[in-house]
Amino acid sequence: MKIDIKLPACEGHGLCAQTAPGIYELDDEGYVRLVVDEITPDLEAAAEAGARVCPVAALAVRR
Ligand code: SF4
Repeated sequence: MKIDIKLPACEGHGLCAQTAPGIYELDDEGYVRLVVDEITPDLEAAAEAGARVCPVAALAVRR
């Protein structure tokens, strides 16, 4: 599973990072980035939950 980040869409609300802090964080400029190099099976549920709460659909789950 992969997470596609549409960075231009990110508005830095941080909901993804609040929901799944082990997967997403905000960089120094306030934009989302992944904390982990790979979404392993044990991280999939959290990664999906974090993507789902993004109000601007900047995070897309790809399988
Ligand atoms: S919830 Fe969406 S808009 Fe907010 S930081 Fe995460 S990716 Fe960016």
